[in-house]
Amino acid sequence: MTNLILPGATLGVLGSGQLGRMFAIAARRLGYRVHVYSPDMNTPAGQVSDREFSAAYNDVVQLAEFARSVDVVTFEFENVPAAATDCIQKYCPVHPSKYVLSVAQNRIREKSTLRDAGLAVPRFCEVTTAEELLAAVLELGVPAVVKTASSGYDGKGQAVLHNVGQVEEIWTELATNQAIVEQFVDFDCELSVVGARNSRGEIVHYGPFLNTHTDHILDVTICPSGLATDVNARAIDVAHQVFDCLDVVGVLCVELFVTKDGQILINEIAPRPHNSGHLTIDAHNTCQFEQQVRAICGLPLGDTTQHTNAAMANILGDVWNDVDPNWSALLATDVKLHLYGKVEARPGRKMGHITAFGNSINDADRAVREARDSLLNK
Ligand code: AMP
Repeated sequence: MTNLILPGATLGVLGSGQLGRMFAIAARRLGYRVHVYSPDMNTPAGQVSDREFSAAYNDVVQLAEFARSVDVVTFEFENVPAAATDCIQKYCPVHPSKYVLSVAQNRIREKSTLRDAGLAVPRFCEVTTAEELLAAVLELGVPAVVKTASSGYDGKGQAVLHNVGQVEEIWTELATNQAIVEQFVDFDCELSVVGARNSRGEIVHYGPFLNTHTDHILDVTICPSGLATDVNARAIDVAHQVFDCLDVVGVLCVELFVTKDGQILINEIAPRPHNSGHLTIDAHNTCQFEQQVRAICGLPLGDTTQHTNAAMANILGDVWNDVDPNWSALLATDVKLHLYGKVEARPGRKMGHITAFGNSINDADRAVREARDSLLNK
């Protein structure tokens, strides 16, 4: 049972990117103090926190000092070594648990755990050598998607194999000794369900969100999804099952494929707020970051009612080009701008996002894309 951790207490976050920043903003609004921990300095989350620890994830001295300085710890980044969680747990609770983290950290453990719980995932095989990769591709057929078992994100550590002649080349490129090979899902669309669960087993959810990606990076999210009611209901049901089977305390996102024949398959889970949930800040009664605060503090979860049709578009470093983005043009439109305080803009780097609204979901979608295009107006 989570003890009640009330405003005035100090919340710890492992990781210090934009997810930690938006968590810290929500937490401070509720009157909490926030300490963040990552190897970096002057980070998106550190800039808006009470204290920024800059040390390695295996520095047990600093981890212990961090843990002693807070009342509870959560994550904004799941690839933290298990030993770091062990160290912190000696001093304060950690949510979600080390178990949830370990499932999400390894794609083979993740897919096996979900499949063993009776949930539908794409067909997959574990491979540790080029020979096993060849055997897996012969079994699953082409195209197939090969992903490193750990540390991949936004399409990194991932390749699509179109013919068996590519096996050696792709295995060498991935430079790993453990990978997952999945059937290529010819999906109709991609959905995500973000939710929160507290230690009493109560769950709230948003969406589902309908997501479109460009170059494997989330580009635009819309909510409501515009899909049939039964598809939405099944997606939400899958997410609730994931929450319960992993006994999650915190926020978690379930990313899903809807296949052309209407099946719902889990692609992956993220045990933290998710990029697709950013529109909850402006479009919902309680945003995903406030839910993370509430869930880890043992508070009642917040109302997830959505006020209006909403669309979110990511702003990547690419729009910086030679000149700065045209912020005046963007802010002359009726969108909400969120920038993450990152000093250096690089292609593919998530620098911020915008949320737009509309009388219909198509209007919101159009508005968010037009507003983003206005950043390039000279
Ligand atoms: P992931 O890192 O697993 O979330 O993959 C990033 C993106 O690659 C997904 O959002 C999909 O668009 C695509 N993708 C991943 N796995 C598959 C698959 N098995 N079949 C088809 N597309 C995939």
